[in-house]
Amino acid sequence: MHIFKTKKELQKFLLSFTKEEKVGFVPTMGALHEGHLSIVEQSKKQCDITICSIFVNPTQFNNASDLDNYPNTLKADLEKLEQLACDIVYTPTIADLYKNGEKAKEFDFGTLTIGMEGEFRPGHFNGMATIVEKFFNIINPTKAFFGQKDLQQLQIVKALAKQMESDIQIIGIPTIREESGLAKSSRNELLSTSEKQEATLVYKCLKYCKNNQELAIPTLEKYIQEQFKNNTHFKLEYIDFVSLNTLLPITKWEAKNQNAICIAAYIEGVRLIDNIIL
Ligand code: AMP
Repeated sequence: MHIFKTKKELQKFLLSFTKEEKVGFVPTMGALHEGHLSIVEQSKKQCDITICSIFVNPTQFNNASDLDNYPNTLKADLEKLEQLACDIVYTPTIADLYKNGEKAKEFDFGTLTIGMEGEFRPGHFNGMATIVEKFFNIINPTKAFFGQKDLQQLQIVKALAKQMESDIQIIGIPTIREESGLAKSSRNELLSTSEKQEATLVYKCLKYCKNNQELAIPTLEKYIQEQFKNNTHFKLEYIDFVSLNTLLPITKWEAKNQNAICIAAYIEGVRLIDNIIL
């Protein structure tokens, strides 16, 4: 496994590959868990060379303490990637990617950024798209892999690739869950065993909606809000029923489009997000 700390070294190494070799790219912020690793495995299956980046991108954090507290488990991450025979790991410093004082670029993703994370984490998607665009320009992969766990991010990255007029294929990878249904997340490590058990409420609610699609959306919404109100440890930030292509809210299921339900909630101060595509 080759580890590069600078884009210069990485790009020099990439020159040794032919145009026919498919390059798969998996961006992460480290603290790798089985969700990340399943994405690396998919890239290994679909491509000849897999590059995983580990970089905690400062411009996508709208909260300084969230950035300061972001876990750093680089040694363990590298061991996990080595076990999967990941070909290349790119672990740049901030200075390798941003000029001194450089801020996030302003993007226009239309309706995709209006609601949900776009509403509750202002600036987050400009920061995310800024770094993904930089990575795409440095690596120019054949395919880039993103988790459906961050559904809004996945849709925005697809829009970004179009805006860049690039041929990079954006591949969405299904969410990996604990046996309990809780979506794997680095933030789960901040929860006690009993909190983790309670956190399964998020996925239970999503599955309830999926299994009761004959009910009207406002009825389902009210039911979910009640479930969260009855749980004193939880604070529901949003539950949104949306059309997958636009991410605009829907009040009736759209038969001709895919629909999705997205939830963000705090359990004892830890923010969890999850979704289900119908
Ligand atoms: P992060 O390190 O949080 O930026 O995540 C890196 C990538 O892993 C993103 O594309 C996420 O959507 C994806 N990811 C995070 N959690 C999961 C999960 N439980 N299952 C599948 N992919 C995930």
